[in-house]
Amino acid sequence: MSEHLGAHGVPHIVLERHRIAERWRSERWDSLVANGPAWHDRFPGLEFSDVDPDAFASKEQVADYFVAYAEKIGAPIRCGVEVTSVRRHAGRPGFRVETSEGAIDARFVVAATGPFQRPVIPPIVPDGAVPVQIHSSGYRNPEQLPEGTVLVVGGGSSGVQIADELRRSGRRVFLSVGPHDRPAREYRGRDFCWWLGVLGRWDAETPPRGAEHVTIAVSGARGGHTVDFRALAVEGIELVGLTSSYDDGVLRFAPDLATNIALGDAKYLELLRAADEYVERNGLDLPEEPQAHVLGPDPECVTDPRLELDLAGAGVTSIVWATGFATDYGWLEVDAFDENGRPDQRRGVSSEPGVYFLGLPWQSRRGSSFIWGVWHDARYVADHITTQRAYLAYGTTDRPGTAPAGRKN
Ligand SMILES: Cc1cc2nc3c(=O)[nH]c(=O)nc-3n(C[C@H](O)[C@H](O)[C@H](O)COP(=O)(O)OP(=O)(O)OC[C@H]3O[C@@H](n4cnc5c(N)ncnc54)[C@H](O)[C@@H]3O)c2cc1C
Repeated sequence: MSEHLGAHGVPHIVLERHRIAERWRSERWDSLVANGPAWHDRFPGLEFSDVDPDAFASKEQVADYFVAYAEKIGAPIRCGVEVTSVRRHAGRPGFRVETSEGAIDARFVVAATGPFQRPVIPPIVPDGAVPVQIHSSGYRNPEQLPEGTVLVVGGGSSGVQIADELRRSGRRVFLSVGPHDRPAREYRGRDFCWWLGVLGRWDAETPPRGAEHVTIAVSGARGGHTVDFRALAVEGIELVGLTSSYDDGVLRFAPDLATNIALGDAKYLELLRAADEYVERNGLDLPEEPQAHVLGPDPECVTDPRLELDLAGAGVTSIVWATGFATDYGWLEVDAFDENGRPDQRRGVSSEPGVYFLGLPWQSRRGSSFIWGVWHDARYVADHITTQRAYLAYGTTDRPGTAPAGRKN
């Protein structure tokens, strides 16, 4: 956002309550790496200096990249400043921004607080039923958890990677798997990020039916690999369906594990077929990979699923809830939300004139909540602000009679 505003000559400040890229630094587990290769998961104007383009940057390398980028573009970032409220001025344009460091007047406000604001733990297991219950954002490493079995709830990228790490550390692990997408990490020598790109799928403008809530299970861990629930079961992870209820020390799971695995398989195979068609249509010379289409038999935990777990009996001492995040715009006290409290916006332009959003899932396309996708959405928002500024300057001493320069059709 700062880069694009700067390019348009729009004076601005960026307020960050902690450090640049704080969520990468301190709000995830120690071994986290980017889900996409370094050539892909970056902004157009800067490559990673210390990561092989086909490798997966560690969380610290990603955070350092953002710091280097801010330096490169001279972003006027004030760290350690928390925005506590934004209110519209009465009878004049603009907003009063209250912060931990005093008040600021702003003509425009961009809420770029990200898609992962408030950890969500479904209220299923009461406090005290097991010694430790944490959200994935609070998980750091296996040593942090007390001895014993761990239940990881959530089959997205976080849940799968955490369950895998715990199992490899020698723990007994249960993994509760809901509906998911699990693209092949690499197929015919190209990463799935490349395939989604050439197939136009990052640019998909509206989520496929129901897909808004379907998590993508991918992993850049250990050099990157396809998330394969059968392989996780072979490793010894005991797969169960969606965690549904708790009663008197016993946790129950929905009988949906086989369906969830089958739907994930179907999406996986569909992408391989689309990739094959693309190769054929374009006459590309990419090595065939027929074995990627062979999934193998379902493990016993899928064919004969466990529907109940006596937590104490199984020695479960920790539950890690990898169940995602909700938004929290309590500080943004303006009319920019729909009746469900969700941002009321199109491509980041909200229903409250002068207020914008950035970094939302599906803000303009599938790629919107990924590093490179945010860059494009920010350009659109900056264009919009620039156009508005030109209208507002019309007839003033600033720019008498000038046309709205940033206008785009
Ligand atoms: C752990 C993690 C892993 C990811 N993995 C990938 C990946 O592999 N590939 C990829 O392309 N993208 C990935 N993403 C997405 C990407 O890094 C960006 O998070 C996403 O593009 C959105 O960026 P953002 O700046 O809008 O949000 P965030 O990165 O969430 O940043 C929002 C910032 O706002 C600050 N903030 C919140 N509230 C306030 C307030 N009231 N006052 C002041 N500051 C506030 C927060 O401290 C935070 O630093 C990942 C994100 C995270 C967090």
